[in-house]
Amino acid sequence: MSATAKSLGTVLCLPGDGIGPEVMAEARRVAEWFAATRGVRFTFTDGLVGGAAYDASGAPLTDATMAQAMAADAVLLGAVGGPKWDNLEFKVKPERGLLRLRKDMELFANLRPALVYPALAEASTLKHEVVAGLDIMIVRELTGGVYFGEPRGITDLGNGQRRGVNTQVYTTAEIHRVARVAFDIARARGKRVCSMEKANVMESGLLWREEVTKLHAAEYTDVQLSHMYADNGAMQLVRNPKQFDVIVTDNLFGDILSDEASMLTGSLGMLPSASLGATDAKGKRRALYEPIHGSAPDIAGKGVANPLATILSFAMMLRYSFGLGAEADLLDRAVGAVLDTGVRTSDIQQAGKKLVSTREMGEAVVDTLGQLAKAGGSKQMAGAH
Ligand code: NAD
Repeated sequence: MSATAKSLGTVLCLPGDGIGPEVMAEARRVAEWFAATRGVRFTFTDGLVGGAAYDASGAPLTDATMAQAMAADAVLLGAVGGPKWDNLEFKVKPERGLLRLRKDMELFANLRPALVYPALAEASTLKHEVVAGLDIMIVRELTGGVYFGEPRGITDLGNGQRRGVNTQVYTTAEIHRVARVAFDIARARGKRVCSMEKANVMESGLLWREEVTKLHAAEYTDVQLSHMYADNGAMQLVRNPKQFDVIVTDNLFGDILSDEASMLTGSLGMLPSASLGATDAKGKRRALYEPIHGSAPDIAGKGVANPLATILSFAMMLRYSFGLGAEADLLDRAVGAVLDTGVRTSDIQQAGKKLVSTREMGEAVVDTLGQLAKAGGSKQMAGAH
């Protein structure tokens, strides 16, 4: 690709609050390297979300920014929230900005990789041999299920008793669209999907299992499908997580299982995520990429935050919104190589390693990208998909 290539699409950048702008600056540094060196160029627009947007406009996300997000090919977000805005009324809290993005963009598939770089395997609370080289992807359904199902609510039964109700509900279409995302991702990785539910005790779980099985038989027989009850899945994730490639599950189980899986890696500052929506008439899929960590008010402004989760979110954007798998592999490999050299931000610091700032970590990734590109481009990271 030529270094003067035209823009591949529009990316709305929403750094947000706390460490958000600091880690976003390093993702942009990496983006600049791809533009200048590989001709992988995007048209970036900057916007406000969360507390920063509230301070500027009185709303955690303006209609104008929402419209930009809908029109963009991808949205890259930092983090929102902080003590400054903790006492705002509910509807203008920073988190409402993020929730509106997810809702209006109809982001139904949440992708959470759990990847343990060999250099960081000691950071996990699990034994080295259980997690070293771990590379799994959890696909969580994000817009349906018990968090949204009706009826819901708390009713007063009189006589001092109350009743709380939530409803777990899924339709064929909702199951198929998220399972399709999981099968497509598995095709580009280890070609295995494990679907998790509670088909033994829940009708919605039985429907989930039947529909995933039907879709698999009709369209994805090249991918190996297995099923597991979600409670067993939770145990297997800590017993032998490397048995999995892609896990697909509903909103509630996915909430729990993806947090469990992320903690296998032991480092919040390393974990990216993607949320994908439906494909529109022009074939464009709405998508939001963000680190899973929050705005870390305790370290904001100090220049010490780990930018790698945001840089890896940018890598997911290359892969899932722009089909640039080789470029994403190169970036994943650069992050691994930087860690191998012993460079660490404070959250992942280990004895004898070199402590660096947010900016220095970003620069180390860019330097390493340069070295890897010179040494032979985008070979697959050993052991990774
Ligand atoms: P947090 O993720 O911000 O921080 C938890 C701990 O991890 C802190 O000690 C922090 O310093 C550390 N940490 C997090 N990211 C780091 C990084 N990149 N590098 C180094 N250390 C890092 O969670 P919290 O403290 O519970 O929440 C703080 C604020 O963030 C709250 O206002 C919360 O609502 C918000 N939050 C936002 C999101 C989001 O934007 N998606 C997610 C979670 C929390």
